[in-house]
Amino acid sequence: MRAFYHPRQAAHDPQQYMRFGRVVAPKDLPCRTDRLLDALARRGIRPQAPAETGCDPVLQVHDAGFVAFLRTAWDQWQQLPPERGPEVWPATFPYWSARPDQPVRPPPRPTGLLGRMGWYLGDLSVPVGPDTWLSTLRSAETAVAGADAILGGEDSAFALCRPSGHHARADRASGFCYLNNAAIAAQRLRQRFGRVAVLDVDVHHGDGTQQIFYGRADVLTVSIHGDPGDFYPFYTGYADERGSGAGEGFNLNLPLPHGAAKPQMMAALATAAGAIRDFCAEALVLSLGYDAHKSDPIGVLRLESEDFGDIAAAVRAIGLPTLIVQEGGYAVEVIGDCLHAFLAGFDG
Ligand SMILES: [Zn+2]
Repeated sequence: MRAFYHPRQAAHDPQQYMRFGRVVAPKDLPCRTDRLLDALARRGIRPQAPAETGCDPVLQVHDAGFVAFLRTAWDQWQQLPPERGPEVWPATFPYWSARPDQPVRPPPRPTGLLGRMGWYLGDLSVPVGPDTWLSTLRSAETAVAGADAILGGEDSAFALCRPSGHHARADRASGFCYLNNAAIAAQRLRQRFGRVAVLDVDVHHGDGTQQIFYGRADVLTVSIHGDPGDFYPFYTGYADERGSGAGEGFNLNLPLPHGAAKPQMMAALATAAGAIRDFCAEALVLSLGYDAHKSDPIGVLRLESEDFGDIAAAVRAIGLPTLIVQEGGYAVEVIGDCLHAFLAGFDG
């Protein structure tokens, strides 16, 4: 399998994260990429650096004002008084509906950085540091390179994206995610494939991906995740969110009870596979996280490392050209084993 990764993706090194009312050490550590690269090497896979395709593919799914904010926020932060913190971190969160059918918002009225920070950074898990934008852009380009490999005739490809992307909405970063790599790739695949499905097996609902395609009939979004009733991202991910307008019926959420393990995951995957076949998808993007592992520090499910091999086999059995896009997974000591098991299962 061809794989893609750019070393600059590891430069993004967040310093702060808010959990249970305290500023704590971040979970998206740069060393995550080392473990995943090790797993690829164990399978004999050497990732290629992606081409520098820039912002054009990004702007196919993201709001231009939002992208400009991400690109310039760090430099603007330097203009703030010297007591500023080590990274761009918001302190305001303007009211906005959590309705799943909420489209891209109008541009924010504040012209200054502080007001725009609250508009575009949706929670306290997406600080912007000196290397965040470049890592984010390289991560998106890795997804684009993977999509281009599929467009070029490859049957499968792996995009080792970091930062991950599935919580990023068209105009809002959140949940360690800045640009939605899977959505950018799915949109890219539409150049050749009439119908594209995105299947998300990260333990968190793929709320950004859902929002981006919620009103569209050409991209089916399916997410299997821990029940959001008491779990991030809280406000979406419920089973009654089925799409809106032309997209009615083209979004499927399969929340699992907290503590669920392999049997429930495999049953949900069977449901997802049926929906993808019924949709007559021509290509598949898999948002792959490992935070459904029982060891994950912020997860709520109980998967074992080897279970990711069974997930891979089920995805492979769908029988579509498949781009695998890296999402979360924060138990650094096991994520390499999870990816290794996944790749072995995918290869049968
Ligand atoms: Zn996750």
